[in-house]
Amino acid sequence: MDIQILILGGGPSGLSTALHLIKINPLLAPRILILEKENYPRFKLCAGGLVIDAEVILERLGLDVREVPHVDAPNIRFDFAGKGLNVRVPKRHAIRVIRRNEFDHWLAKKTREAGIEIREGVTVKKVIPDQNGVTVQTDQGEFRAEIVVGADGSNGVTRRSIFPNEPVYTARVLEVITPNYPKQEPTRNDIAFFDFFPVPNNIAGYTWDFPTQVNGEPMRCWGIYDTNLLADFNRPALKEPLAEEMKRHGFDLSEYEIKGHPIRWYSPWNKASVPRVLLVGDAVGADPIFGEGISMALGYGVLAATEIAESYQRGEFSFDRYKRRLVRSGLGQTLFVRWLITQIIYTLKWRWFQILLWRILKPIVLFVAWVFILNWSKRMPLRN
Ligand SMILES: Cc1cc2nc3c(=O)[nH]c(=O)nc-3n(C[C@H](O)[C@H](O)[C@H](O)COP(=O)(O)OP(=O)(O)OC[C@H]3O[C@@H](n4cnc5c(N)ncnc54)[C@H](O)[C@@H]3O)c2cc1C
Repeated sequence: MDIQILILGGGPSGLSTALHLIKINPLLAPRILILEKENYPRFKLCAGGLVIDAEVILERLGLDVREVPHVDAPNIRFDFAGKGLNVRVPKRHAIRVIRRNEFDHWLAKKTREAGIEIREGVTVKKVIPDQNGVTVQTDQGEFRAEIVVGADGSNGVTRRSIFPNEPVYTARVLEVITPNYPKQEPTRNDIAFFDFFPVPNNIAGYTWDFPTQVNGEPMRCWGIYDTNLLADFNRPALKEPLAEEMKRHGFDLSEYEIKGHPIRWYSPWNKASVPRVLLVGDAVGADPIFGEGISMALGYGVLAATEIAESYQRGEFSFDRYKRRLVRSGLGQTLFVRWLITQIIYTLKWRWFQILLWRILKPIVLFVAWVFILNWSKRMPLRN
Protein backbone atom coordinates (compact mmCIF):
# COMPACT_ATOMS: atom_id res chain seq x y z
CA MET A 1 0.00 0.00 0.00
CA ASP A 2 1.70 3.23 -1.18
CA ILE A 3 -0.33 5.75 0.76
CA GLN A 4 -0.19 5.35 4.48
CA ILE A 5 -2.23 8.38 5.46
CA LEU A 6 -4.91 9.83 3.22
CA ILE A 7 -6.36 13.16 4.38
CA LEU A 8 -9.71 14.06 2.81
CA GLY A 9 -10.14 17.84 2.67
CA GLY A 10 -7.52 20.59 2.52
CA GLY A 11 -9.05 23.12 4.93
CA PRO A 12 -7.43 24.10 8.26
CA SER A 13 -8.19 20.77 9.97
CA GLY A 14 -6.70 18.59 7.20
CA LEU A 15 -3.66 20.82 6.67
CA SER A 16 -3.04 21.07 10.42
CA THR A 17 -3.20 17.28 10.76
CA ALA A 18 -0.59 16.91 8.00
CA LEU A 19 1.72 19.60 9.42
CA HIS A 20 1.55 18.14 12.93
CA LEU A 21 2.20 14.62 11.62
CA ILE A 22 5.48 15.69 10.09
CA LYS A 23 6.30 17.74 13.15
CA ILE A 24 6.18 14.43 15.04
CA ASN A 25 7.91 12.42 12.30
CA PRO A 26 9.33 14.29 9.28
CA LEU A 27 9.91 10.96 7.48
CA LEU A 28 6.13 10.61 7.08
CA ALA A 29 5.89 13.45 4.53
CA PRO A 30 6.09 11.24 1.38
CA ARG A 31 3.51 8.87 2.88
CA ILE A 32 0.80 11.49 3.31
CA LEU A 33 -1.61 12.54 0.54
CA ILE A 34 -4.27 15.24 0.85
CA LEU A 35 -7.26 15.20 -1.52
CA GLU A 36 -9.08 18.52 -1.98
CA LYS A 37 -12.13 18.90 -4.20
CA GLU A 38 -11.54 22.60 -5.04
CA ASN A 39 -8.53 24.45 -6.46
CA TYR A 40 -6.69 26.97 -4.25
CA PRO A 41 -7.31 29.78 -3.69
CA ARG A 42 -10.82 28.44 -3.23
CA PHE A 43 -13.83 30.23 -1.79
CA LYS A 44 -14.96 29.19 1.70
CA LEU A 45 -17.87 30.94 3.36
CA CYS A 46 -16.52 32.16 6.71
CA ALA A 47 -16.20 35.44 8.60
CA GLY A 48 -12.52 34.63 9.13
CA GLY A 49 -12.26 35.67 12.79
CA LEU A 50 -9.10 34.19 14.32
CA VAL A 51 -8.89 33.99 18.11
CA ILE A 52 -5.66 33.81 20.08
CA ASP A 53 -5.62 29.97 20.12
CA ALA A 54 -5.44 29.78 16.32
CA GLU A 55 -2.41 32.06 16.34
CA VAL A 56 -0.75 30.08 19.15
CA ILE A 57 -1.10 26.76 17.28
CA LEU A 58 0.23 28.28 14.06
CA GLU A 59 3.17 29.87 15.92
CA ARG A 60 4.10 26.47 17.36
CA LEU A 61 4.26 25.17 13.81
CA GLY A 62 6.69 28.01 13.06
CA LEU A 63 4.08 29.82 10.94
CA ASP A 64 3.44 33.54 11.01
CA VAL A 65 -0.17 34.29 10.10
CA ARG A 66 0.72 37.97 9.59
CA GLU A 67 1.93 36.85 6.13
CA VAL A 68 -1.78 36.51 5.23
CA PRO A 69 -3.70 39.73 4.45
CA HIS A 70 -5.62 40.56 7.63
CA VAL A 71 -7.40 43.22 9.65
CA ASP A 72 -6.95 43.43 13.41
CA ALA A 73 -9.85 44.58 15.55
CA PRO A 74 -8.61 46.07 18.85
CA ASN A 75 -12.09 45.74 20.39
CA ILE A 76 -14.85 43.16 20.48
CA ARG A 77 -18.36 44.10 21.61
CA PHE A 78 -20.82 41.55 22.99
CA ASP A 79 -24.13 43.41 22.96
CA PHE A 80 -27.80 42.93 23.50
CA ALA A 81 -29.68 45.36 21.23
CA GLY A 82 -26.74 47.69 20.80
CA LYS A 83 -25.51 47.90 24.42
CA GLY A 84 -23.24 45.57 26.30
CA LEU A 85 -19.73 44.52 27.01
CA ASN A 86 -16.52 45.80 25.41
CA VAL A 87 -13.50 43.47 25.35
CA ARG A 88 -9.92 44.60 24.85
CA VAL A 89 -6.91 42.34 25.24
CA PRO A 90 -3.87 44.04 26.83
CA LYS A 91 -1.06 44.69 24.32
CA ARG A 92 -2.64 42.80 21.41
CA HIS A 93 -5.61 42.80 19.09
CA ALA A 94 -8.86 41.27 20.36
CA ILE A 95 -9.49 39.40 17.11
CA ARG A 96 -7.65 39.06 13.78
CA VAL A 97 -9.75 38.71 10.64
CA ILE A 98 -8.56 36.92 7.50
CA ARG A 99 -10.32 35.82 4.31
CA ARG A 100 -10.44 32.07 3.96
CA ASN A 101 -9.44 31.93 0.28
CA GLU A 102 -6.16 33.63 1.26
CA PHE A 103 -5.62 31.90 4.61
CA ASP A 104 -6.25 28.35 3.35
CA HIS A 105 -4.15 28.96 0.22
CA TRP A 106 -1.27 30.17 2.41
CA LEU A 107 -1.57 27.18 4.75
CA ALA A 108 -1.71 24.80 1.77
CA LYS A 109 1.48 26.39 0.38
CA LYS A 110 3.23 25.89 3.73
CA THR A 111 2.08 22.27 3.75
CA ARG A 112 3.45 21.70 0.25
CA GLU A 113 6.72 23.42 1.13
CA ALA A 114 7.00 20.91 3.98
CA GLY A 115 7.00 18.12 1.38
CA ILE A 116 3.39 16.96 1.54
CA GLU A 117 1.44 16.31 -1.67
CA ILE A 118 -1.98 17.93 -2.08
CA ARG A 119 -4.03 16.78 -5.05
CA GLU A 120 -6.60 19.45 -5.98
CA GLY A 121 -9.81 18.97 -7.95
CA VAL A 122 -10.50 15.48 -6.54
CA THR A 123 -13.97 14.97 -5.04
CA VAL A 124 -14.37 12.12 -2.58
CA LYS A 125 -17.60 10.16 -3.07
CA LYS A 126 -17.40 7.37 -0.52
CA VAL A 127 -15.12 6.06 2.23
CA ILE A 128 -15.13 2.31 2.92
CA PRO A 129 -12.96 1.04 5.76
CA ASP A 130 -12.16 -2.67 6.21
CA GLN A 131 -9.82 -4.72 8.43
CA ASN A 132 -6.68 -4.04 6.37
CA GLY A 133 -7.14 -0.50 5.12
CA VAL A 134 -9.56 2.02 3.64
CA THR A 135 -10.90 2.33 0.10
CA VAL A 136 -11.77 5.86 -0.97
CA GLN A 137 -13.91 6.31 -4.08
CA THR A 138 -13.49 9.63 -5.87
CA ASP A 139 -14.41 11.23 -9.19
CA GLN A 140 -10.78 10.50 -10.25
CA GLY A 141 -10.80 6.81 -9.39
CA GLU A 142 -10.16 4.74 -6.31
CA PHE A 143 -7.48 5.26 -3.64
CA ARG A 144 -6.37 2.77 -1.03
CA ALA A 145 -4.73 3.84 2.24
CA GLU A 146 -3.76 2.39 5.59
CA ILE A 147 -5.71 5.09 7.40
CA VAL A 148 -7.95 8.01 6.48
CA VAL A 149 -8.50 11.38 8.14
CA GLY A 150 -11.90 12.90 7.37
CA ALA A 151 -11.27 16.65 7.21
CA ASP A 152 -14.02 17.47 4.75
CA GLY A 153 -16.07 19.89 6.82
CA SER A 154 -19.63 20.20 8.09
CA ASN A 155 -21.23 18.40 5.13
CA GLY A 156 -18.38 15.91 4.79
CA VAL A 157 -18.69 12.62 2.92
CA THR A 158 -16.37 10.86 5.38
CA ARG A 159 -18.67 11.32 8.36
CA ARG A 160 -21.71 10.39 6.29
CA SER A 161 -19.92 7.23 5.05
CA ILE A 162 -18.87 5.97 8.48
CA PHE A 163 -21.82 7.23 10.57
CA PRO A 164 -24.76 7.23 8.15
CA ASN A 165 -27.42 7.25 10.86
CA GLU A 166 -25.95 9.56 13.49
CA PRO A 167 -27.94 12.66 14.51
CA VAL A 168 -26.29 15.85 13.27
CA TYR A 169 -26.42 19.14 15.17
CA THR A 170 -26.07 21.97 12.71
CA ALA A 171 -26.37 25.72 12.92
CA ARG A 172 -27.74 27.80 10.05
CA VAL A 173 -25.61 30.76 9.08
CA LEU A 174 -25.91 33.65 6.60
CA GLU A 175 -23.11 36.03 5.58
CA VAL A 176 -22.92 39.31 3.65
CA ILE A 177 -19.96 41.52 2.67
CA THR A 178 -20.50 45.29 2.49
CA PRO A 179 -18.30 48.38 2.16
CA ASN A 180 -16.89 49.94 5.33
CA TYR A 181 -18.90 52.34 7.46
CA PRO A 182 -19.18 55.80 5.96
CA LYS A 183 -16.86 58.50 7.27
CA GLN A 184 -19.40 59.83 9.80
CA GLU A 185 -19.27 56.57 11.76
CA PRO A 186 -15.54 55.71 11.58
CA THR A 187 -15.18 54.43 15.15
CA ARG A 188 -17.29 51.34 14.39
CA ASN A 189 -14.74 50.29 11.76
CA ASP A 190 -12.27 49.13 14.45
CA ILE A 191 -14.73 46.98 16.35
CA ALA A 192 -15.98 43.40 15.86
CA PHE A 193 -19.61 43.32 17.04
CA PHE A 194 -21.72 40.43 18.26
CA ASP A 195 -25.36 41.23 19.09
CA PHE A 196 -27.62 38.70 20.76
CA PHE A 197 -30.86 40.65 20.24
CA PRO A 198 -32.46 37.84 18.11
CA VAL A 199 -32.44 35.31 21.02
CA PRO A 200 -35.86 36.28 22.52
CA ASN A 201 -37.28 35.76 19.00
CA ASN A 202 -36.20 32.11 19.10
CA ILE A 203 -32.99 32.52 17.14
CA ALA A 204 -30.45 30.83 19.38
CA GLY A 205 -27.50 32.88 18.23
CA TYR A 206 -26.42 36.39 17.28
CA THR A 207 -25.71 38.79 14.45
CA TRP A 208 -22.10 39.77 13.78
CA ASP A 209 -20.43 42.71 12.08
CA PHE A 210 -16.66 42.39 11.65
CA PRO A 211 -14.02 44.51 9.97
CA THR A 212 -12.44 42.66 7.06
CA GLN A 213 -10.69 43.29 3.76
CA VAL A 214 -11.35 41.95 0.30
CA ASN A 215 -8.47 42.21 -2.19
CA GLY A 216 -6.85 44.79 0.10
CA GLU A 217 -9.99 46.97 0.28
CA PRO A 218 -11.39 47.57 3.82
CA MET A 219 -14.89 46.05 4.06
CA ARG A 220 -17.36 44.77 6.67
CA CYS A 221 -18.46 41.17 7.04
CA TRP A 222 -21.99 40.79 8.48
CA GLY A 223 -23.86 37.67 9.34
CA ILE A 224 -26.30 35.82 11.51
CA TYR A 225 -25.79 32.54 13.35
CA ASP A 226 -28.51 30.26 14.75
CA THR A 227 -27.62 27.04 16.57
CA ASN A 228 -31.16 25.78 15.87
CA LEU A 229 -31.59 25.05 19.60
CA LEU A 230 -34.93 26.88 19.59
CA ALA A 231 -36.06 25.36 16.29
CA ASP A 232 -39.24 23.94 17.87
CA PHE A 233 -40.55 27.44 18.59
CA ASN A 234 -41.94 29.97 16.10
CA ARG A 235 -39.01 31.93 14.83
CA PRO A 236 -38.44 34.47 12.09
CA ALA A 237 -36.42 33.63 9.00
CA LEU A 238 -32.76 34.50 9.49
CA LYS A 239 -32.82 37.28 6.90
CA GLU A 240 -35.20 39.50 8.87
CA PRO A 241 -33.11 40.09 12.00
CA LEU A 242 -29.94 40.47 9.91
CA ALA A 243 -31.68 43.07 7.72
CA GLU A 244 -32.92 44.82 10.88
CA GLU A 245 -29.43 45.01 12.40
CA MET A 246 -27.88 46.25 9.15
CA LYS A 247 -30.62 48.86 8.70
CA ARG A 248 -29.91 50.22 12.20
CA HIS A 249 -26.43 51.03 10.93
CA GLY A 250 -27.34 52.42 7.53
CA PHE A 251 -26.98 49.31 5.32
CA ASP A 252 -29.69 47.79 3.14
CA LEU A 253 -29.40 44.00 3.07
CA SER A 254 -31.29 43.76 -0.23
CA GLU A 255 -28.38 45.52 -1.99
CA TYR A 256 -25.91 42.75 -1.15
CA GLU A 257 -25.43 39.10 -2.01
CA ILE A 258 -26.38 36.76 0.85
CA LYS A 259 -24.62 33.42 1.21
CA GLY A 260 -25.47 30.58 3.57
CA HIS A 261 -23.75 27.46 4.85
CA PRO A 262 -24.42 25.15 7.83
CA ILE A 263 -21.93 24.66 10.66
CA ARG A 264 -21.91 21.29 12.40
CA TRP A 265 -21.36 21.92 16.10
CA TYR A 266 -19.84 19.86 18.84
CA SER A 267 -21.97 17.89 21.24
CA PRO A 268 -20.45 15.42 23.73
CA TRP A 269 -22.26 12.64 21.85
CA ASN A 270 -20.65 13.37 18.47
CA LYS A 271 -18.60 10.40 17.32
CA ALA A 272 -15.08 10.96 16.08
CA SER A 273 -13.66 7.70 14.73
CA VAL A 274 -14.07 4.09 13.61
CA PRO A 275 -11.16 1.67 13.13
CA ARG A 276 -8.80 3.14 10.47
CA VAL A 277 -10.78 6.39 10.01
CA LEU A 278 -10.77 9.43 12.24
CA LEU A 279 -12.53 12.76 11.85
CA VAL A 280 -11.19 16.27 12.48
CA GLY A 281 -12.54 19.84 12.41
CA ASP A 282 -16.18 20.51 11.56
CA ALA A 283 -16.60 16.82 10.73
CA VAL A 284 -16.54 16.26 14.52
CA GLY A 285 -17.88 19.65 15.52
CA ALA A 286 -17.11 23.36 15.88
CA ASP A 287 -17.86 25.63 18.83
CA PRO A 288 -21.63 25.74 19.40
CA ILE A 289 -21.80 29.21 21.04
CA PHE A 290 -20.38 31.23 18.15
CA GLY A 291 -19.77 28.68 15.38
CA GLU A 292 -16.08 29.46 15.80
CA GLY A 293 -14.15 26.66 14.14
CA ILE A 294 -10.82 27.72 12.64
CA SER A 295 -8.84 27.50 15.88
CA MET A 296 -10.69 24.28 16.71
CA ALA A 297 -9.88 22.81 13.28
CA LEU A 298 -6.18 23.55 13.88
CA GLY A 299 -6.46 22.00 17.36
CA TYR A 300 -8.12 18.82 16.07
CA GLY A 301 -5.07 18.48 13.79
CA VAL A 302 -2.77 18.36 16.83
CA LEU A 303 -4.80 15.58 18.46
CA ALA A 304 -5.31 13.53 15.29
CA ALA A 305 -1.59 13.63 14.49
CA THR A 306 -0.69 12.51 18.02
CA GLU A 307 -3.25 9.70 17.88
CA ILE A 308 -2.02 8.52 14.46
CA ALA A 309 1.65 8.63 15.47
CA GLU A 310 0.96 6.56 18.60
CA SER A 311 -1.17 4.11 16.60
CA TYR A 312 1.76 3.51 14.25
CA GLN A 313 4.01 2.87 17.24
CA ARG A 314 1.53 0.34 18.62
CA GLY A 315 0.87 -1.14 15.17
CA GLU A 316 -2.91 -1.03 15.50
CA PHE A 317 -5.43 1.42 14.08
CA SER A 318 -8.59 1.04 16.14
CA PHE A 319 -8.39 4.75 17.12
CA ASP A 320 -10.39 3.81 20.17
CA ARG A 321 -8.39 6.28 22.32
CA TYR A 322 -9.04 9.26 20.05
CA LYS A 323 -12.32 10.46 21.60
CA ARG A 324 -10.85 10.13 25.12
CA ARG A 325 -7.79 12.08 23.96
CA LEU A 326 -10.10 14.79 22.59
CA VAL A 327 -12.27 14.97 25.72
CA ARG A 328 -9.23 15.28 28.02
CA SER A 329 -7.42 17.89 25.92
CA GLY A 330 -7.67 21.66 26.15
CA LEU A 331 -9.73 21.55 22.96
CA GLY A 332 -12.16 18.96 24.33
CA GLN A 333 -12.51 20.87 27.59
CA THR A 334 -13.36 24.15 25.88
CA LEU A 335 -15.75 22.39 23.48
CA PHE A 336 -17.57 20.78 26.41
CA VAL A 337 -17.80 24.04 28.39
CA ARG A 338 -18.97 25.88 25.27
CA TRP A 339 -21.62 23.21 24.66
CA LEU A 340 -22.80 23.61 28.27
CA ILE A 341 -22.88 27.42 28.04
CA THR A 342 -24.81 27.14 24.76
CA GLN A 343 -27.53 25.11 26.46
CA ILE A 344 -27.85 27.83 29.12
CA ILE A 345 -27.54 31.14 27.29
CA TYR A 346 -29.71 30.24 24.32
CA THR A 347 -32.45 28.30 26.07
CA LEU A 348 -32.86 31.00 28.77
CA LYS A 349 -34.02 33.16 25.92
CA TRP A 350 -35.89 35.86 27.85
CA ARG A 351 -35.00 39.47 27.18
CA TRP A 352 -34.29 40.18 30.88
CA PHE A 353 -31.82 37.27 31.06
CA GLN A 354 -29.98 38.37 27.92
CA ILE A 355 -29.75 41.93 29.27
CA LEU A 356 -28.47 40.62 32.61
CA LEU A 357 -25.89 38.48 30.85
CA TRP A 358 -24.46 40.92 28.31
CA ARG A 359 -24.87 44.21 30.16
CA ILE A 360 -24.70 43.51 33.90
CA LEU A 361 -22.68 40.34 34.57
CA LYS A 362 -19.64 41.72 32.72
CA PRO A 363 -16.88 40.59 35.15
CA ILE A 364 -18.30 37.06 35.32
CA VAL A 365 -18.71 36.79 31.56
CA LEU A 366 -15.15 38.07 31.00
CA PHE A 367 -13.72 35.65 33.56
CA VAL A 368 -15.52 32.64 32.03
CA ALA A 369 -14.46 33.70 28.52
CA TRP A 370 -10.79 34.11 29.44
CA VAL A 371 -10.51 30.93 31.53
CA PHE A 372 -12.87 28.46 29.83
CA ILE A 373 -13.42 29.71 26.29
CA LEU A 374 -10.03 31.09 25.26
CA ASN A 375 -6.46 29.98 26.00
CA TRP A 376 -7.21 26.25 25.64
CA SER A 377 -4.32 25.82 23.17
CA LYS A 378 -1.91 26.09 26.13
CA ARG A 379 -3.32 22.78 27.36
CA MET A 380 -2.62 20.90 24.11
CA PRO A 381 0.16 18.37 23.33
CA LEU A 382 3.10 19.05 20.94
CA ARG A 383 3.92 22.38 22.51
CA ASN A 384 7.47 22.87 21.27
C1 LIG B 1 -20.75 31.80 7.51
C2 LIG B 1 -19.68 31.22 8.38
C3 LIG B 1 -18.90 32.06 9.15
C4 LIG B 1 -17.89 31.52 9.96
N1 LIG B 1 -17.09 32.39 10.67
C5 LIG B 1 -16.09 31.90 11.42
C6 LIG B 1 -15.20 32.77 12.10
O1 LIG B 1 -15.30 34.00 12.03
N2 LIG B 1 -14.21 32.22 12.85
C7 LIG B 1 -14.04 30.88 12.95
O2 LIG B 1 -13.13 30.45 13.66
N3 LIG B 1 -14.86 30.02 12.29
C8 LIG B 1 -15.87 30.49 11.53
N4 LIG B 1 -16.66 29.63 10.83
C9 LIG B 1 -16.44 28.18 10.97
C10 LIG B 1 -15.25 27.73 10.13
O3 LIG B 1 -15.41 28.17 8.80
C11 LIG B 1 -15.11 26.21 10.18
O4 LIG B 1 -15.23 25.77 11.50
C12 LIG B 1 -13.77 25.74 9.61
O5 LIG B 1 -13.68 26.07 8.25
C13 LIG B 1 -13.61 24.22 9.78
O6 LIG B 1 -12.45 23.79 9.12
P1 LIG B 1 -12.38 22.32 8.49
O7 LIG B 1 -11.02 22.17 7.95
O8 LIG B 1 -12.89 21.34 9.46
O9 LIG B 1 -13.45 22.34 7.31
P2 LIG B 1 -13.50 23.26 6.01
O10 LIG B 1 -12.84 24.55 6.23
O11 LIG B 1 -14.92 23.24 5.57
O12 LIG B 1 -12.61 22.46 4.98
C14 LIG B 1 -13.07 21.28 4.39
C15 LIG B 1 -12.32 21.09 3.09
O13 LIG B 1 -12.69 19.83 2.53
C16 LIG B 1 -12.99 20.00 1.16
N5 LIG B 1 -13.98 18.99 0.82
C17 LIG B 1 -15.28 18.95 1.21
N6 LIG B 1 -15.89 17.86 0.70
C18 LIG B 1 -14.95 17.22 -0.03
C19 LIG B 1 -14.97 16.03 -0.81
N7 LIG B 1 -16.09 15.31 -0.96
N8 LIG B 1 -13.83 15.64 -1.43
C20 LIG B 1 -12.68 16.36 -1.28
N9 LIG B 1 -12.61 17.50 -0.57
C21 LIG B 1 -13.73 17.92 0.06
C22 LIG B 1 -13.53 21.42 1.05
O14 LIG B 1 -13.39 21.95 -0.26
C23 LIG B 1 -12.66 22.17 2.06
O15 LIG B 1 -11.48 22.65 1.50
C24 LIG B 1 -17.67 30.14 10.00
C25 LIG B 1 -18.45 29.27 9.20
C26 LIG B 1 -19.45 29.81 8.40
C27 LIG B 1 -20.28 28.90 7.54
